[in-house]
Amino acid sequence: MEDWYISGSAIAGRGLFTAKTIEPAECILRFEGERISHEYTPEFAKIGSNWIGVADREWIIPASESPVLFLNHCCEPNVFINEHQEVIAAQVISAHSELLLDYSSTELDPYWSMKCTCNHPNCRKLIKSFVYLSAVKQLKYKPYISPVYWQSINHHFIP
Ligand SMILES: [Zn+2]
Repeated sequence: MEDWYISGSAIAGRGLFTAKTIEPAECILRFEGERISHEYTPEFAKIGSNWIGVADREWIIPASESPVLFLNHCCEPNVFINEHQEVIAAQVISAHSELLLDYSSTELDPYWSMKCTCNHPNCRKLIKSFVYLSAVKQLKYKPYISPVYWQSINHHFIP
């Protein structure tokens, strides 16, 4: 039996939940998928909303039925995805809580944006790629995410 399950979410549709209490930095699951690369363009940013950005201009398309497809966005997340395609806990997560990812922590495409209705008091309303996050947020996310994201801050990605 897996330590996670899919169930109805208060945020959107169905979500990914943990069946047990998880400790900070614990790996919840590892996912597989096809890796693709593409230039950033306004048109390309509109497709692949379920893709996970793993590097500059590179994404993983999660396999169908992959649990990561059910990870809902929240502006105050409790999990991150690292460079090993692992979902990592950022804090103690009690059993039967929904696992929530900040989609800005898995996207470097400067053209990408999404309206947010997560309803968290700190909701950003319009979410954009990692380079647009506040420096405070970027620093907070740094221990959990791919070093590529952190390095990207020093590059000129903003169109
Ligand atoms: Zn939000």
